Amino acid sequence: MNAMLEGKRALVTGASRGLGRAIALALARAGAQVVAHYYRHATEAQALCREIQALGREAECMAADLADARAGEKLAEQLTARDPEFRLDLLVNNAGLWRTTPLGTTEISAVDELLAVNLRSAFLVTQALLQWIPAGGAIVNISSVAARQGVAGGRSLYGATKAALDAFTRNWALELAPRGIRVNAVAPGYLRTEMTAAHFSNPAMLERALARHPFGRMATPEEVAAVVVFLASPAAAAITGQIINTSAGFII
Ligand code: NAP
Repeated sequence: MNAMLEGKRALVTGASRGLGRAIALALARAGAQVVAHYYRHATEAQALCREIQALGREAECMAADLADARAGEKLAEQLTARDPEFRLDLLVNNAGLWRTTPLGTTEISAVDELLAVNLRSAFLVTQALLQWIPAGGAIVNISSVAARQGVAGGRSLYGATKAALDAFTRNWALELAPRGIRVNAVAPGYLRTEMTAAHFSNPAMLERALARHPFGRMATPEEVAAVVVFLASPAAAAITGQIINTSAGFII
């Protein structure tokens, strides 16, 4: 898979940590130039960019709050202002929040935040950047197994945002096929990132999750990132509109 993405330009949202960081690094190792989007963790994003540059690839960091409806436009303005030849071969819609939103107690502000960051931003960022994605380009959305199965503990809104992201994936694949752009998603199960750190600090939760994995372990962010690299690469030229389960066999 090495250098399969030589000369390609990628933007990864939420690249400051966790899965987005692993994806940005894997894309760079495969030859891509990377724009690493972040929100609050500037130091981590800058460290990632230095790590990518040390691999001999171009990298730059770009901040935006994706809860802001204008974030996509602002990113597009920043990306194109400095480079009139700007082109984006790969967009990875990865940034996301995992919140507990029980029906009984969830405030409307929490509903709006989850919908804005996990769902609306993917639509608006993709819309804003689409005109710079050429034929042969690809979009990869980061979904979750929670799109297709119930998860105990008040996760309905999170699952709904991911199910809607799957619907975006299938529909954008049809919408963008005439332009030669492929759209796919990966659906991880549990990953050990900051998103789940508090959850898995409870040994009972960790044991319960591991028991649901046939290998007795979760997938790693690097394993999920490898599938994103594949989906971005010419090796996946015949794949569009698909949601690839990368959960290491997670069963409910
Ligand atoms: P994470 O460690 O919490 O990282 C989340 C990323 O999203 C960070 O880079 C963060 O930026 C960014 N982000 C959060 N709020 C934002 C906002 N308002 N505007 C812009 N960016 C924002 O999470 P992760 O585990 O890597 O998850 C990455 C993706 O994988 C998410 O879409 C998640 O739903 C999905 N996923 C995760 C798991 C899991 O078990 N972890 C399982 C299935 C799917 P800053 O840190 O810079 O603020």
